[in-house]
Amino acid sequence: MPETRAGSMPGASGAAGAGPAAGTSAAGEPLLEVSGLKKHFPIKRGFLSRVVGQVKAVDGVSFAIPRGEVLGLVGESGCGKTTTGRAILRLIEPTAGSVKFEGREVTTLGRRELRAMRRHMQIVFQDPYSSLNPRLTVGSMIGEPLAIHGIARGAAARERVAQLLTQVGLSPDHARRYPHEFSGGQRQRIGVARALSVGPQLIVADEPVSALDVSIQAQIINLLRDLQRTLHLTYLFVAHDLSVVEHISDRVAVMYLGVIVELAASEALYREPRHPYTVSLLSAIPVPEPGRKRERIVLQGDVPSPAKPPSGCRFHPRCYMAQERCAREEPLLREVSPGHWSACHFAEQVSVAGAGAARASRPT
Ligand code: SF4
Repeated sequence: MPETRAGSMPGASGAAGAGPAAGTSAAGEPLLEVSGLKKHFPIKRGFLSRVVGQVKAVDGVSFAIPRGEVLGLVGESGCGKTTTGRAILRLIEPTAGSVKFEGREVTTLGRRELRAMRRHMQIVFQDPYSSLNPRLTVGSMIGEPLAIHGIARGAAARERVAQLLTQVGLSPDHARRYPHEFSGGQRQRIGVARALSVGPQLIVADEPVSALDVSIQAQIINLLRDLQRTLHLTYLFVAHDLSVVEHISDRVAVMYLGVIVELAASEALYREPRHPYTVSLLSAIPVPEPGRKRERIVLQGDVPSPAKPPSGCRFHPRCYMAQERCAREEPLLREVSPGHWSACHFAEQVSVAGAGAARASRPT
């Protein structure tokens, strides 16, 4: 089985069909290829602001998304998933690595080229309250990108705005209103309409439902799923909870402390996780069956600092399966079964059922 150091997977660059880039989608050539992406933030101290270290928020992430696929990117707060999404769109500048959109390198584009490229790559932000300009009407906000990209102005723009509002389940009349007149779910629909206005191919959905009530979350996820199918969109769907991405993702990548630790087709990852961290995330999802409980695995200790990640396997201080080798040797991200990648020395022994026993037998 192929293997590679986490963060520089083979197949992330090159033809679909090799490495984790290939996935299980039959959609063909990757629309997006991310290879060895890093984003380090300098830690500065003292009067002269000397750089004394680096926060390695994203430390070598590689994956590819075929056209029309939804890739879920999941992990705890601070694991680097949002930074990954923003670095791909160059809303923050990556420190290293490559991002290719339709085979074209994004990281080296000049300002004008980047602006043109942004028409094809859009983002839906997490917070529908702060991501909308309170001084603009909904119509102006959705119409603004149309003018910037020279797509439509005047009556044509108004017609397009009305169309978009209908598409996201709002009324064309809402174009005259201001964001404060809407509920959280409606504001997120406006955010989606704005992202769709320029006709993008790729949408980075950055925790698009985590600021919403549970009852509204499902509505927005269903809307995003319907739009993805109707408009043949490709999503990078960022979430901190595996239950959120379960029904929308074709594949899921799990991040821990700046690196991908598991990547697989959605169904395989939920049925047969191959990394102890994924097992612990899955254990937090309630089972929708009365009387049936899943054993909750509460991770020991806090998430280590990304400025000083642990030696060997980054997860070893909190892992219920950790052995002596884990602190010494960094596990390679390897394909443990077709299309299923894990960065664990003992991936073949990981099982949901065995998690409780392994944890109980581990010396504390
Ligand atoms: Fe746990 Fe070791 Fe696997 Fe890391 S390599 S996840 S510490 S068993």
